[in-house]
Amino acid sequence: MKPPPFDYRDPTTVDDVLSLLAEHTDDATLLAGGQSLMPLLNMRLARPEVLIDLNRVAGLDRITITDDAVTLGATVRLATVEHDTGIAGAMPVLAEAASRVAHPQIRVRSTLGGTLCHADPAAEMPTVAVALGARIHLRSRGAARVVPAADFFETVFTTAKQPDELLVAVEFPRRPGMTVFYDEISRRHGDFPFAGLCLGVRTEAGVVAEVIAAAAGVADRPVRLVGLEAAVLGRPLAEAVEDAAAAASAEIDPPADHHGTVAFRRGLLRTLVRRLAARFEETR
Ligand SMILES: Cc1cc2nc3c(=O)[nH]c(=O)nc-3n(C[C@H](O)[C@H](O)[C@H](O)COP(=O)(O)OP(=O)(O)OC[C@H]3O[C@@H](n4cnc5c(N)ncnc54)[C@H](O)[C@@H]3O)c2cc1C
Repeated sequence: MKPPPFDYRDPTTVDDVLSLLAEHTDDATLLAGGQSLMPLLNMRLARPEVLIDLNRVAGLDRITITDDAVTLGATVRLATVEHDTGIAGAMPVLAEAASRVAHPQIRVRSTLGGTLCHADPAAEMPTVAVALGARIHLRSRGAARVVPAADFFETVFTTAKQPDELLVAVEFPRRPGMTVFYDEISRRHGDFPFAGLCLGVRTEAGVVAEVIAAAAGVADRPVRLVGLEAAVLGRPLAEAVEDAAAAASAEIDPPADHHGTVAFRRGLLRTLVRRLAARFEETR
């Protein structure tokens, strides 16, 4: 099928995007990588009157790496997140998670802002954003605000972003001394995962001094696993693994669908906790 007719705009500045959004708030849609939006347009599930293309907007693909944070512009491609040596050096888990999104051809087009705004509950990058405590920078004409990732994802395909707002950048705070991994289980390589886990640990004198954890595919949005975090804090990780796996599988509210039962997804998360804990042990 072909998309319904729309008025195509391709602004070159953020201010022009914000003006267009203010003017056409209720009938405009932003186009980034198009990997989620184009199928929706072609199937006529989305029928915007105005399509605002972000691909020529100057500065939205900026990468800024400081001692405090890695800040990625909205149109940074997932292939760039995967391969940029600066990003991989400063925050390897971003590259690791990006490499698990779909296939290379899709990652060349998909953008960080697009995957966050699309808000699929099984998506990799939103889960890593929640785990790392990322800050989502939003702008509308005459206003700007920063939303913590944990508050940004509201439910399936729904975020706290308002229709006149543009996601301009995502700021991932750096966590000195912490090792962060991402892993997932899917039916085939490149598929959305049944379950994914981002886990970060900093140890001091053999015990976990700081921990962050969030899961994909086990609720209506990426969720922080506070039960898992509490189960390992102050203990040697190897000793706390089974308690952490039990806490994680108990605190989630996974969907039952044609892919599997609730018990199946709880079991997958337990497996992921054990897998990542083993990786931490290997890298000690
Ligand atoms: C075969 C296939 C497999 C896939 N597998 C996976 C997978 O395993 N994991 C995964 O996470 N994703 C997967 N995807 C989805 C893919 O990563 C999408 O590209 C991504 O979800 C959306 O990014 P995009 O840049 O293409 O956004 P688009 O499709 O252009 O836009 C998506 C939505 O976000 C809005 N939007 C985009 N940018 C902004 C912005 N800066 N500010 C405000 N709103 C914005 C758009 O208006 C639209 O509503 C897959 C896609 C395909 C086709």
